[in-house]
Amino acid sequence: MTRAYNFSPGPAALPETVLRQAQADMLEFGDAGASIVEISHRGPEFLELARQAEADLRNLIEIPDDYAVLFPAGGATTQQALIALNFAAAGQRVDYVVSGHWGRTALKQLVSVDVNVAASGEADGFRTIPARESWRLSKDAAYVHVTANETIHGVEFRPAWGQVPPDTGDVPLFADFSSSIASEPIEVSKYGLIYAGAQKNLGPVGISVVIVRRDLLERAGQPRADIFDYRSQLKGESMLNTPPTWNWYLLGQTVRWMIDEGGTAEFDRRSDVKSTLLYGAIDGSGGFYRNEVAPEVRSRMNVPFFLPDAALDGAFLSGAREAGLIGLKGHRVLGGMRASIYNAMPVEGVQALVDYMQEFQKRHG
Ligand SMILES: *Cc1c(COP(=O)(O)O)cnc(C)c1O
Repeated sequence: MTRAYNFSPGPAALPETVLRQAQADMLEFGDAGASIVEISHRGPEFLELARQAEADLRNLIEIPDDYAVLFPAGGATTQQALIALNFAAAGQRVDYVVSGHWGRTALKQLVSVDVNVAASGEADGFRTIPARESWRLSKDAAYVHVTANETIHGVEFRPAWGQVPPDTGDVPLFADFSSSIASEPIEVSKYGLIYAGAQKNLGPVGISVVIVRRDLLERAGQPRADIFDYRSQLKGESMLNTPPTWNWYLLGQTVRWMIDEGGTAEFDRRSDVKSTLLYGAIDGSGGFYRNEVAPEVRSRMNVPFFLPDAALDGAFLSGAREAGLIGLKGHRVLGGMRASIYNAMPVEGVQALVDYMQEFQKRHG
């Protein structure tokens, strides 16, 4: 068996060491006498696993004690709906900054709140993020929502853009970190809430992480079922009902792997190396390959690029497959190609992609 370099946007590549351990634990987990997917979430083995996963995540992301951590079932889109229910009263103002597809998706999840789109990059094809000075924020908003990294448009809040995270005064900043969490150290205390679906940088699909300032949980929010109430979920340790135990396990293993590799400072370094290599190859191709995002907000995680003629896309993808490079087809919203280079993608994988791109250009340029 040969594993290809996998540039999929999500579900995405997982570290091989994690997969090998999972393979063993799929048959028998420690001395539990059964597989990790067969044991009770209330039993001592799983409770210890869940406790360790939270401790490791707190260590990895440096989450202060006045922040709670939830591991809800479901994806980031589900959290987009739940944050409005949990933190905005009916009819209350909420501010959204839309910097790409996922910011737009977040808007679609809102009901019974007064939505203000404080800024949007849409008129610019989401190739830039509007400058902080141009945002029209409301004084009385429940929160300001941003997408830290736009996975499809390849647009990320980077220091070259301005102050990151942007200052929102007394209104708490809520951020969708689905595709960039743990790719660099962040100051959690600058945020009211951080959420992420796990399937990009944290593990498998089916589970999310919510990091929230504890005092915000005391807000009334809107009427909601107990299962959708973050306060109840916190009290119930994210186990009000049967949690996705396999996904939680894989998340914990992936977080542990990131700590062993050197933590967020090391992934920050690697992300710089990988993204510089890839953008360098695109910009240095004499216009054969094109990335259209403004340099100050180019994502280090997701790199969309185009060939000179879409008629070449098929040949590029099949050649890539033969070269052991998969998952490069762009999202249907943009077309073209996209290389997702999350924490589990080694520098060698990006080097192999760059080598292939140069060889392809020689043949077709
Ligand atoms: C993938 C993604 C989502 C949606 O995640 P689901 O788990 O599919 O709901 C939301 N926001 C961002 C930034 C993403 O990358």
